[in-house]
Amino acid sequence: MAFLLTLGSSTFSYAQKINVKRVDPPSWWTGMHDHNLQLLVYGPRISETHPVIDYPGVQLEQTIHVKSPDYLFLDLIISPGAKPGTMAIHFKKGKKDIVKYAYTLNKREKGPKLHQGFDNSDVIYLLMPDRFANGDTTNDNMPGMLEKADRSNPNGRHGGDIKGIEEHLDYLKDLGITTIWSTPLMEDNMPAYSYHGYAQTDYYKVDPRFGTNRNYRNMVREAHKKGLKVIQDMVFNHCGTNYFWKNDLPTPDWYNPWPKFTRSNYHGGVVSDPHASKYDYHHMVAGWFDSSMADLDQDNPLVANYLIQNSIWWIEYAGLDGIRQDTYPYPYKDFMAKWMQRILLEYPHFNVVGETWFSYPATVAYWLENDRNKDGYHSHLTNVFDFPLMMAINKAFNEKPGWDTGLARLYEVISQDFVYSDPMKLGIFAGNHDSNRIFSSLHEDLKAWKMAMAFLMTTRGIPEIYYGDEIVMTGEKSKGDGNLRKDFPGGWPGDKLDAFTQQGRTPEQNEAFNYMHRLLNWRKTNKAVQFGTLTHYIVENGVYVYFRSYKGQKVMVLLNNNEKPVTVDLSRFAEDLNGFTKGRNVIKGNTIVLGKEMELPGKSAEILELE
Ligand code: CA
Repeated sequence: MAFLLTLGSSTFSYAQKINVKRVDPPSWWTGMHDHNLQLLVYGPRISETHPVIDYPGVQLEQTIHVKSPDYLFLDLIISPGAKPGTMAIHFKKGKKDIVKYAYTLNKREKGPKLHQGFDNSDVIYLLMPDRFANGDTTNDNMPGMLEKADRSNPNGRHGGDIKGIEEHLDYLKDLGITTIWSTPLMEDNMPAYSYHGYAQTDYYKVDPRFGTNRNYRNMVREAHKKGLKVIQDMVFNHCGTNYFWKNDLPTPDWYNPWPKFTRSNYHGGVVSDPHASKYDYHHMVAGWFDSSMADLDQDNPLVANYLIQNSIWWIEYAGLDGIRQDTYPYPYKDFMAKWMQRILLEYPHFNVVGETWFSYPATVAYWLENDRNKDGYHSHLTNVFDFPLMMAINKAFNEKPGWDTGLARLYEVISQDFVYSDPMKLGIFAGNHDSNRIFSSLHEDLKAWKMAMAFLMTTRGIPEIYYGDEIVMTGEKSKGDGNLRKDFPGGWPGDKLDAFTQQGRTPEQNEAFNYMHRLLNWRKTNKAVQFGTLTHYIVENGVYVYFRSYKGQKVMVLLNNNEKPVTVDLSRFAEDLNGFTKGRNVIKGNTIVLGKEMELPGKSAEILELE
């Protein structure tokens, strides 16, 4: 697809009055660890002025001019003694004020439930806001927003929003998850496929069809009150081509330029591949993700600052507990490391989980902070997603036992954990908004689904479930992305069934929901299953057995992938069973005496708290 970039040409005609249309970040705080702040100032011919700031504790260190006459970049130093307040920025010609701009420096908010980070005690719930619940039908269509709501179009906007999330916080808390990860909520004012939010056109503004910045901030506060955490989805690799700067880029290299549209090769592995060609590397990181998604050049320090400050702004403004960063290997990796360091400087307990979509553990391990990468790369990234395990989960519970099939797939992936600096930092999941729904992968076999969920909640890592998996929603990638992202039944006024309630769920949905409910709420109470070391035993005859151990607490998990019941000889597990005589089944509630053998029902997961 051919397209044109108009680089460096001003949107504003020269007859237009000098003015300030926009300053990013839109506000800042006093008392940050890093005292530097770089403001992007945008407005017609603003570069013809010189800015002056007279505010105690704030120093304008440098004014940067770029190719476009409609921008200035202001490097400020905000000293520790600076007080919160409104700071006037005078844009002058000679001694005359041409524009006076009021910029707010806020007081940082303190509180135990802000910027908490997440860990192995958490379970993440991934939802797509457009598809989860429509709490406010008056915002489904908004002035100035190009795409209108059309619920009949699987790839269109359906009207879900922040209010819809907020109205179901109690549902989520009751289900037993601890952390909400919503796919992007920032403005995505593209003419089509805007519902997914990955072509953002304003990094500083919640899409009005989802709500306002304040709505988002309040939703986070409400979640915190209920003991839930919130992760924001960010996209640094690319922005939507309708970003405000689209016809007036600050610098010609704001986006990675190509003579004609050039797509990324999507082979993220070339970034860590010691044998990769420069050609492949360049096409990977500088190629565009899509014609509607412009590839930001994070090697440009102005772009880098813009993105870094944006994430700090949202963490501070909304009180975020974590970030999920999209397409992690696609931006320049040195920039990503710098970004992580900046976040951890400001928020030492914060977590960022990277979308590291690779088939092999070694490639994922490269991106999780470690001191083993041969090229010396330190990502400083606190968490990564375990895509290899996701792929194994989607096959393991469908297959007949074999040397390297069935549950052996799980064992094989986990046995490669030596490549990770800390496998407990892996986000583990059975599916997300880009992959088959787990229930569909398992041919809608409820027993297999229960096994998959039991495994996910008891093996090492931080589990994530995809909205609707708890009511066994279906979706197949081969039928298009919209099929993976169906509306949660009951989320829209007038929905025939309301699966948020017991009465609105089918018997099968209730069986699934109740299973997840029990599993998740038990998981919250058990330190061994959260933080315990893992010992697993090779899969024999389609049975996979493992233990989680933590300070004398122990959990035993037995997965039988055979259709028929199996009797397991327990003597093989003596080193873990040593001293334990009973096990309480956390799903069924009964306690069994541990003898020489144990009978496992066909297609079952037994989770025992050992006593
Ligand atoms: Ca709505």
